[in-house]
Parts: sequence; structure tokens; C-alpha cells
Amino acid sequence: MSLSLSCEAPVLTTQWFDGRSPRARTVQAWLDGDSLVIKDDELESRYPLCEMRWPERSTHGQVLAELPDGGLLQHADAAEWDQWWRQSGGRESRVAAWQQSWRATLCALLGSVAFLAVFWVWGVPLVSRGAVQLIPHEMEAGLGRAAAEQLESIFLKPSVLPVSQQEAIRSHFFQWVQTAYPAGNAPQWNLTFYRSPILGPNAFALPGGAIAMTDELVHLLGDQREALLGILAHELGHVVHRDGLDMMVRSSLVSALVGVVLGDVTGFVATVPATLATQSYSRDAERAADQFAAKLLSANGVSPAVMVVFFERISELQTKEKNGPGLPIAMASHPDFTERIRFFREWR
Ligand SMILES: [Zn+2]
Repeated sequence: MSLSLSCEAPVLTTQWFDGRSPRARTVQAWLDGDSLVIKDDELESRYPLCEMRWPERSTHGQVLAELPDGGLLQHADAAEWDQWWRQSGGRESRVAAWQQSWRATLCALLGSVAFLAVFWVWGVPLVSRGAVQLIPHEMEAGLGRAAAEQLESIFLKPSVLPVSQQEAIRSHFFQWVQTAYPAGNAPQWNLTFYRSPILGPNAFALPGGAIAMTDELVHLLGDQREALLGILAHELGHVVHRDGLDMMVRSSLVSALVGVVLGDVTGFVATVPATLATQSYSRDAERAADQFAAKLLSANGVSPAVMVVFFERISELQTKEKNGPGLPIAMASHPDFTERIRFFREWR
């Protein structure tokens, strides 16, 4: 028996090819921590286990293990190899057997699918949130401008609201934001009005702090200034939480990461149109933005319940016209009006 057992690491006597000569040499092999050691009278070599290509079991029951320097271990008795490996505490002792089992292959496949699913559900948001933290504000603003240009070419026309009316809404909201941030650390934002027959009464936020509101929404809530400002507050919530950036990073994780590394957002910006047309903010992001709005209203002494009228009017309009608004990130596209009405009505 070429397997020697002791309280030392079990030693296997086996055949070694150096990768240059066709002649095998008999060597002693044992595991030492994360390394494989092989030794004979002339040499002692040590290989990190992670760099070894692991035994592809041949049908003849012999084991071949490739070494990182091009050498090869050949062991004729696979069972003996396995026993040595197990007794050495080798972690991958079952790999060879597993490779031969279709059931194991299926398990491995399902495992991979499960891993991908888990990564998709939990990993991508984490990585995305991480990447969002790395993206500088100038880059975010550039992305927002690209998004705005796209939307202007498809959905948005210049506003026909009187400038004085636009300015009144803007400065009223400015006061509210200042009130909510008494320490003077108010977030950066800017508000642009657009006419948009396609989007109808709507509002949305883009990366970098740009908030857009349609003339149609101003008309819908002409007598409800506080609800109008509440919608701006919801959009400001998206700005503060950098949800627009997060959405774009998420839908284009690879080009976003390349953009971060190379400092070049060209590839990332190219994904903007598709993202805007198809993606929405997550439900959690919407809840957080509603929460932000409720707090901002409340900080100004206004009950968040003023928001209810918006949902009532918009759902009435949507049932009448039956054409849903075509921008998933926009305020009127967010689902669950009932849940949101309850939220604003019951907020304390
Ligand atoms: Zn929203």
C-alpha cells in the first residue's frame, strides 16, 4: 500500500511528469494547508491548490491532476487517490465523482440558476447602489441632460404656461424646501415645465436633480397648489435618493461600471433611451419618495392628505381616456393608487 497514514499529513506515493520529459518520476505528495507538496530525492515543490486543474476522471479509473507549472500528477488507482484526499481534509474530494454524475450536473445547473436569481434579486441592487455611490454628481448631471434631450425629442414640447405662473410654483416650492431644510443643506434641484399631450398630467425626476412637470398637471391641479407641490416633493425624493441614476445603473450595470472605471459615460449614455422607455423605479423607491413627500409637506404644516385629490383626479382621467401614460418613471404611472391614497391619508 503506497498510502501511509500517520498523525502527519497523509502522504501519497504517486507518479509525476515534469511537463518536459516523457518520463514519470515517483514522488511523495501531501497537502499542507492550501498547498500541495510533492517531493522526491532531488526536489520539493509546492503548488497552491487553487491553481491546480482538478482531476478529470478518465474512464480507466486513473487520476490526472494538472499542476500550474505544466507538470502532471498521474495516479493509477482513483479510489486510493480519493481516500488520500479525504484523509488529507481536501475539500474537493468529491469533485471527480460529481463530474461523472448527471444528477450532480443537474444540481450544479440548478445551483447556478439559483445563484444567478439570488444575485439578480439581491446582488444587482447592492452592486448598483454601490456603483451609484461612486458616480460623481457631474456624471449624474450629464446623464440627466442626455435623458432630458431624449424625452424632449419624443414626449415633451415647450410649456405654454405663463412664465409668471411657472415662477410662482417654482418659488413656492423653493420656500417649502428651505423650510424643510432649516440647516441650509437643501438638495439641488431645478424645475422645468413642458407641454405633453402624450404624458398628460404628469411629473418626473431625472438623474442630476432635474424635475419636469407638465402643463397638463398644473391644469389638473390648478385649484390645488399644495397637492401640486406635494408631487414636486415626491419627485425631489427621487432626486435625493438618486433613484434615476440607480435605475439606469441597474439596467446597464456593465457599461455603468466601465463608465465609472474609465471616467467615460458615452456607453452608459447610449443606454438612456431604452432605459427611460422601459424601466420604472422600484416599489420601495416609490414608497420612499412618498415618505419624503409626506415629511416635506408636514414640515411645512400641511397635511399629507392633500395628495389624495391628485390620485382621485388622475384615476378618473385614466379610466375616461383609457390610454396609460407612456413614461414608466412618471408620477401618474406608479401603480397602487389605493395603497398610496391610504398612505397619505393615514400618515402621521
Ligand atoms: Zn415616483
